[in-house]
Amino acid sequence: MAIEFTFTADQQAFREAVRTFLKRQVAPIVPAMDESEEFPAGTIRRMQMEGYFGVPVPESYGGLGLGKVGYGILLEELGRVDASHASIVGAHTSLGTTPLLYYGTEAQKRRWLVPAAKGERLLAFSLTEPGSGSDSGAVQTVAEARGEHFVLTGTKIYVTNGREADTIVVMAGTNVKLGPNGGVTAFLVDKGTPGFTVGRCEKKMGLHGTSTAELILDHVELGPEHVLGEVGKGFYVAMTALDVGRVSLGAASLGAMEAALEGAIEFSKNRTQFGLPISEYQAIQFKLADIGMHVHALRYLVYHAAAHQDRMGTEPTAWSRLDRSNKTRESAVVKCLASEWATEAIDEALQIHGGLGYIRGTPIERAYRDARIGEIFEGTNEIQRLVIARDLIGRGL
Ligand SMILES: Cc1cc2nc3c(=O)[nH]c(=O)nc-3n(C[C@H](O)[C@H](O)[C@H](O)COP(=O)(O)OP(=O)(O)OC[C@H]3O[C@@H](n4cnc5c(N)ncnc54)[C@H](O)[C@@H]3O)c2cc1C
Repeated sequence: MAIEFTFTADQQAFREAVRTFLKRQVAPIVPAMDESEEFPAGTIRRMQMEGYFGVPVPESYGGLGLGKVGYGILLEELGRVDASHASIVGAHTSLGTTPLLYYGTEAQKRRWLVPAAKGERLLAFSLTEPGSGSDSGAVQTVAEARGEHFVLTGTKIYVTNGREADTIVVMAGTNVKLGPNGGVTAFLVDKGTPGFTVGRCEKKMGLHGTSTAELILDHVELGPEHVLGEVGKGFYVAMTALDVGRVSLGAASLGAMEAALEGAIEFSKNRTQFGLPISEYQAIQFKLADIGMHVHALRYLVYHAAAHQDRMGTEPTAWSRLDRSNKTRESAVVKCLASEWATEAIDEALQIHGGLGYIRGTPIERAYRDARIGEIFEGTNEIQRLVIARDLIGRGL
């Protein structure tokens, strides 16, 4: 188990470049985006042109080739600025490009991964259904085999980027009775395919720049080139993508905590009550210290997990059982702790702002609304605890 970790000069330079870009190009539009609840098409386009939609994808497939550590840096920086942009990039990269990179054929990589990594096509990932949330293997969307082709029928919900995506990785049941153990298959569904439509888009507490869409599949016929990975192995495809997503969610949570802490320090030094800046009071200092401790600990957890995923590579058949189990446990730990520490940190930072923290449009108020979903999506924290506990009971610490 590798413990020590240092960023390379290239990774540091990447962080600086991302930070400067986000400060200039993205941060200014975030308040208006949050109010209008519109997808930030202009800034997303600029991020695509910078290569930020293919950060962990190898250069040979159109990406920046910076691995999961580089991708973590991007998500951490995005988390500092805006959770909506972080979610749009995360849904596309962790959940869209990972299945293609890890399980796609060479032809699928050329057709779908390269343009996605270059920022020419946006991806989404669709597992959840009205009757299948935490019990994600119980998908009811059916993929009926007709010769070499499949006909997909069903309704998916809560798809991030679902309204805007050019291609969606859709999980459907090729044998619904078998469920996750051989009955689910991953398909690549392009916008415009006959029978495929976007339904309602949810109004949400936060993440106002993202779409959370219903997808309707009404006899969508797909050729064999749209099957991603082996027939019946879609649940593994989904879980591999979610392992990557959970660590990147941890990185975005880390960034959100850092921004909340910096904002709270700044505010506490400038707000005077009872004749002193409130930063002089121990009750405030303890809150700052608690957030700071979690930020410190989470940095190690996130980049340790990201570096582990980089060392494992992108060829699932080469992974040992131990590697897989360690990766899954580690991703669950990072996701669970990061999301809970983030909501706690942002809640405390809001408290430090007093009444101002409750006023619509302040960065901490937006962060509070945006952070809560971290404990729910990419597998609720109850499910992460089940994953961790089963692994602990099965093979010990
Ligand atoms: C903004 C947003 C974006 C999303 N983006 C995507 C996306 O891009 N793609 C996608 O496929 N999905 C997406 N989702 C769906 C998300 O992953 C699910 O909402 C989540 O997995 C929980 O499923 P559920 O909502 O059906 O809750 P349920 O599974 O119904 O859970 C309800 C409650 O019961 C608990 N629970 C369930 N089973 C157990 C158990 N066995 N033991 C203990 N507690 C249990 C849960 O933890 C939760 O607290 C998104 C959701 C939202 C809100």
